[in-house]
Amino acid sequence: MVNFKNSKVDRVKFRDRDYYIKRDDLIDRDFNGNKARKLYYYLNSDLSKFKRVVSFGGNQSNAMYSISAFAKLKNLEFIYYLKPLPKYLKQNPIGNFKFSLENKMRVVESLNFPKQDEFDSKTLFIEQGVKSNFAKEGVKLLAKEIEEFKKSNRVKKLSIVLPSGTGTTALYLQKYLSDIRVYTTALIGDSNYLLSQFKELESDSSFYPTILDLEKKYHFGKLYREFLEIYFELKEATNIEFELLYDPKSWIVLDSYREKIEGEILYIHSGGVLGNESMLERYRRKFKGIF
Ligand SMILES: *Cc1c(COP(=O)(O)O)cnc(C)c1O
Repeated sequence: MVNFKNSKVDRVKFRDRDYYIKRDDLIDRDFNGNKARKLYYYLNSDLSKFKRVVSFGGNQSNAMYSISAFAKLKNLEFIYYLKPLPKYLKQNPIGNFKFSLENKMRVVESLNFPKQDEFDSKTLFIEQGVKSNFAKEGVKLLAKEIEEFKKSNRVKKLSIVLPSGTGTTALYLQKYLSDIRVYTTALIGDSNYLLSQFKELESDSSFYPTILDLEKKYHFGKLYREFLEIYFELKEATNIEFELLYDPKSWIVLDSYREKIEGEILYIHSGGVLGNESMLERYRRKFKGIF
């Protein structure tokens, strides 16, 4: 059962600093993290007028997997558009791709991504990365849980840190947490790109989260030795498995700003660890002998 109450808050120490971790990865085994938050509105809606869900994006995306789990929960077909698949992945499905196929995802390989108006009224169309206005409902609940945590633990000053892809989660979180500062970092594109994403969802810039960045540029989905290293170091220090696409850079950024961020820090674990299987395999191939 998808139960948002499973998202507890842990206290951990990493490199001699204390952190709170909001465990959205524990919401449900198959349906968790910020994608569960973002799909919360539809999870609790009557979708009987729909026959199918259509979405599009990358072939190992966390959103793809979460939508497949969502469609299964809601008894809807799921059709996913993606760029022509590498032969190797087609023949040897792994990670989010494999798990999505197990949830009966049907794929359409296409050079162009579809648009909503290409589908009939029985199709629930979900944008890439679940970037949408309706996502705010679930994020509002997350904000409420954080307010309650702060109050019941008498935390005077709290700062939130989380990674951004489309920026949807961070943006709505800041919007609903007016007294708590939300810090994020861009995983897809740079800080300017993330700002433009915020703008598409919200015109009032006073609701925007604070974007942190580093000198070094990282490219989304690429493998970096320091990402793998911090993933293992976090696992060792906190006993928590973080996600390999978004979390490593966020933790590197967080660690470098740790003196500048005020008060207690609450890091939001946005789930997605199921995708680590394929990431670890790629890392194993790239850095032979490192683990
Ligand atoms: C999708 C995802 C994100 C990015 O969320 P946005 O709302 O698109 O910014 C961050 N972390 C993880 C683990 C994700 O799966």
